[in-house]
Amino acid sequence: MTDVTHGDPNCIFCKIAAGQIPSKKVYQDEQVYAFHDIHPWAPVHFLLIPKLHIPSMAQVGPEHAGLLGHMMALVPRLAAQEGCRPYPEGGFRIVCNTGGDGGQEVHHLHIHVIGGPRPWLKG
Ligand code: AMP
Ligand code: ZN
Repeated sequence: MTDVTHGDPNCIFCKIAAGQIPSKKVYQDEQVYAFHDIHPWAPVHFLLIPKLHIPSMAQVGPEHAGLLGHMMALVPRLAAQEGCRPYPEGGFRIVCNTGGDGGQEVHHLHIHVIGGPRPWLKG
């Protein structure tokens, strides 16, 4: 598996961020891309990824603090934009599966943002 790069030709999320594979865009800027999960568990379910290919949270170091802070600080705005109801009755869940034991299937760092009225399919 590759380490941190500016684009892994075998990575589906690098291809999505580059527009080479279609996705339903939620947001993008120079550093990140967000798009709807293809198998949503809940009324709102999107993924927020860095454009940089970082395989998982396990490869994150102090050099990524700004990028990760940017991502986390975007979540409330994007969650509201996508239909998550206001806190405290509403809210959302963020999930970042990491490695095999963490249940990670796609090895490009991504934050799941999940919300909307229950019931959900999972969680
Ligand atoms: P995980 O690696 O387990 O955190 O989950 C990867 C997530 O990516 C799953 O929820 C998939 O449904 C989602 N996914 C996989 N391929 C695509 C795709 N082409 N477009 C949107 N979501 C995808
Ligand atoms: Zn990638």
